[in-house]
Amino acid sequence: MDYIQQILFLIIAGVAGYLLFGRVVQIRSNIKMGKDFEPSGDKSTRFKNMVLVAFGQQKMFKKIIPAVLHLFVYVGFLVINLEVLEFVIDGVAGTHRIFAPYLGSFYTVLMNIFEFLAVMVLISCLVFLIRRNVLKIDRFKKIEMNGWPALDANLILITEVVLMFAILKMNAADQILQSRGVAHYTDTGFLFFSAHFIPLMDNFSDGTLVFVERAAWWFHILGILAFAVYVTYSKHLHIFLAFPNTYFAKLSVKGHADNMDAVTNEVKSMLGMLPADAAPPAEISRFGAKDFNDLSWKNLMDAYTCTECGRCTQQCPANITGKKLSPRKIMMDTRDRMEEVGKNIKAGNKGLDDGKSLLGDYITKEEINACTSCNACVEACPVMINPLDIILEMRRYIAMEESGSPQSWNVMFQNVETSFSPWKFAPTDRFNWSEDLKNPKN
Ligand code: SF4
Ligand code: SF4
Repeated sequence: MDYIQQILFLIIAGVAGYLLFGRVVQIRSNIKMGKDFEPSGDKSTRFKNMVLVAFGQQKMFKKIIPAVLHLFVYVGFLVINLEVLEFVIDGVAGTHRIFAPYLGSFYTVLMNIFEFLAVMVLISCLVFLIRRNVLKIDRFKKIEMNGWPALDANLILITEVVLMFAILKMNAADQILQSRGVAHYTDTGFLFFSAHFIPLMDNFSDGTLVFVERAAWWFHILGILAFAVYVTYSKHLHIFLAFPNTYFAKLSVKGHADNMDAVTNEVKSMLGMLPADAAPPAEISRFGAKDFNDLSWKNLMDAYTCTECGRCTQQCPANITGKKLSPRKIMMDTRDRMEEVGKNIKAGNKGLDDGKSLLGDYITKEEINACTSCNACVEACPVMINPLDIILEMRRYIAMEESGSPQSWNVMFQNVETSFSPWKFAPTDRFNWSEDLKNPKN
């Protein structure tokens, strides 16, 4: 029987590993369709950012209650996975609680810590479910959250509740079997939290208890394997991508918009400012971004890292004042378009040449033009995503390739070009206002 369980475990783990590997390859190749990107700043500052923001959850603490609850879920995820290591070894070797005899009373301490975290994860997820579905917190109820995004968040929270509950139930059944001296059930010592479930199962037969314990074990390990694959399709990918994403985040001051290298080189070439031996500027295929492959791979990694928390949209003045723009939707649309093209290519269909584009089919000009470039979304994001970068690239495309900016902006652009200021007066008149200062009337 044990052999059957071992073989089954290996087959299931193999299938999960295969699916997971396939998704990682797919996501990587989607991101690599973006343009090259040169990270700014020095490596030590970027590493510090990663430790503080991704590992230390620094930006989450702007909202203390969700921050503490999220911290429990995060620490629970990291620490309880140590227990999964034992699950995997037991599954492969056909053993039961392989570490218990070696670690002795330390094993009891560890298990009690795991159980404490399991209870805190369970409570935190229940509170998150209530916040989303009963209290209906505003940022979770925006239009882009309808359908799959809301279901995705609920599914993951419910799964975590059920998985944590399974751990406690498994440990309770295990403790009863240990007290009855049933073979293979190694002594774990007293486990405080799961012990509360013992009265519910104390009158079960040994056979029923073994079934409950095994069923909970299988449920937990299958849940973990399924979760590992599912995460790659969901917003929960941030638990991994938050690390590289914060490492490669822009370090320049907010409000600084990068120049377009292609334009800078073109202007320098026209003004004879390039070194004599410099190669002539390369032919520019497109100014700004129309589709996702016109963005940098960092922009694309941002999209896969987005947790859909809505903190950006909650701070966005355009969204607050009823405009169509939601920076969260910009990130979700970018990811959805990437996924669409990636799937098409994988299926042997037309990829980028499918007659669609990110701008137009997913994101409208109305959304893009509503942005005030205030950077509030960038500041608010807990994983250092930059929706403004994508918005600016699309605006550049609209302005430079389509001349499609609103008429009032086009007048302003023209004035800047001819008068070097947004207003239509000659540069020589610029200091007219100071005449009165030179000749005061009284
Ligand atoms: S930069 Fe644009 S998208 Fe971001 S918060 Fe400001 S107005 Fe909204
Ligand atoms: S961009 Fe950042 S703040 Fe906005 S929804 Fe995504 S993770 Fe949250």
